[in-house]
Amino acid sequence: MNPVIINLWYVVAAALFIFGLKQLGSPATAVRGNVLSSLAMVIAIAVTLFNKDILTFELIVIAAVIGAVIGAITAQKVEMTSMPEMVALFNGSGGIASLMVGWAALYNMGNTTFTDVTILLSIVIGGMTFSGSILAWGKLSEVMTSAAVVFGAQRIVNAAILIGLVACSVLFCMDPSVTSPYLYAVIGLSLLFGIMAVLPIGGADMPVVISLLNSYSGLAACAAGFAINNNILIVAGSMVGAAGIILTNIMCKAMNRSLGHVLFSGFGAVKQATKVEGEVKPIVAEDAFLILEAAQSVSFVPGYGMAVAQAQHVVRELGELLEKNGAEVTYAIHPVAGRMPGHMNVLLAEANVPYDQLVEMEDINPRIDNVDVAVVIGANDVVNPSARNDENSPIYGMPIINVDQARTVFVLKRSMGSGFSGVDNPLFFGDNTRMLFGDAKQSIAAVVAEFKG
Ligand code: NDP
Repeated sequence: MNPVIINLWYVVAAALFIFGLKQLGSPATAVRGNVLSSLAMVIAIAVTLFNKDILTFELIVIAAVIGAVIGAITAQKVEMTSMPEMVALFNGSGGIASLMVGWAALYNMGNTTFTDVTILLSIVIGGMTFSGSILAWGKLSEVMTSAAVVFGAQRIVNAAILIGLVACSVLFCMDPSVTSPYLYAVIGLSLLFGIMAVLPIGGADMPVVISLLNSYSGLAACAAGFAINNNILIVAGSMVGAAGIILTNIMCKAMNRSLGHVLFSGFGAVKQATKVEGEVKPIVAEDAFLILEAAQSVSFVPGYGMAVAQAQHVVRELGELLEKNGAEVTYAIHPVAGRMPGHMNVLLAEANVPYDQLVEMEDINPRIDNVDVAVVIGANDVVNPSARNDENSPIYGMPIINVDQARTVFVLKRSMGSGFSGVDNPLFFGDNTRMLFGDAKQSIAAVVAEFKG
């Protein structure tokens, strides 16, 4: 196909990507946005196959079939609670793909210096993204500790790796070739740097890392696009890179941290929160029902435990019963609740909770003292008052949903265990807090059963 025609189709695909992305901004149009973006991807791939420089279609077909089979099977099998891990693996796959593309582009004849630099960038950013994402996957799936891993001289070691990486990159660019020993040094050091960069980040700071890696995977793809002179890869990569940076910024704001602080402070490892003690007041479903039946306003505050319990459907059912009973019902969403950006919105949308009942942290907090009952469903870190009150707490400074200021708080969880950040929660000992122990789905179902008599 004529390169001009190919590029025209790329413009169509890029426009569809942009419209798709725009529509992903609201739950009401998100499904359509996904379809548009998928269509754009199909166009981009199909048109690329008409490129006259393609040497072998057999290998492309084999790779596409293998990739499609693996993707379809894992997407079918993945539990909703494991979606964040899957996203981490997707980011990692993007990274390693860019590394491979950059590496392969070295075989092209007559690369310019600019192309060589973009090849190097796609290898370095792709390698870092790959190994960093694998480590993030390990932390999220708790294959390894989710806490920050710090050791003496860590910054010196990291600085040495970085200096080595820059030096080898320069030496490689001076004489770029597939046989250059500096190529392999750059690949090895990039992989190592990705691991070392994510290792000291832990506790509640992981959302920032996930979105940053997402951005890196886009930047790596963009560099790979320059390396092989593919316009749609450049456009799509820069969109992912920009979206990831915007999300990183939103996450940092949501956690009241600067990016530098997240990346370099080894946060979570250095501070020891004040020990929390007090009396715990458990409640059973029958008594919880009596209080809810009398409530005029109820706010559900979901967290990661709602995803684990898959309680969203039964929560929506309880919400409807409360509304019929005359209560005002809201769902208060913390920006980093769960294990991935938008996690709670996805779950509640799946359960058909009306969008207008979702309220953001900034909107609920000023009026939370008028809420009769705040029902915390498997949330922990995002409602931990020590983030507000305890300067020694590793999560101090992170904005939370102030459920402790509601008239009554029900906390639904299975034990007194801590959340992702591993920090104790004084909320559980509050005068106005009642603990409804058990699996969140079963606890809510028991309250629903009481309502239905
Ligand atoms: P947390 O991880 O703080 O707490 C979840 C709670 O759910 C646990 O304390 C657990 O208690 C409870 N739970 C687990 N299973 C069940 C169940 N079946 N029924 C009832 N309760 C259950 O979650 P939050 O949503 O409050 O906070 C999110 C945390 O994850 C933050 O620290 C955030 O920074 C971090 N994070 C967020 C990401 C994002 O993008 N949103 C990405 C990566 C990390 P118990 O075991 O006693 O039941």
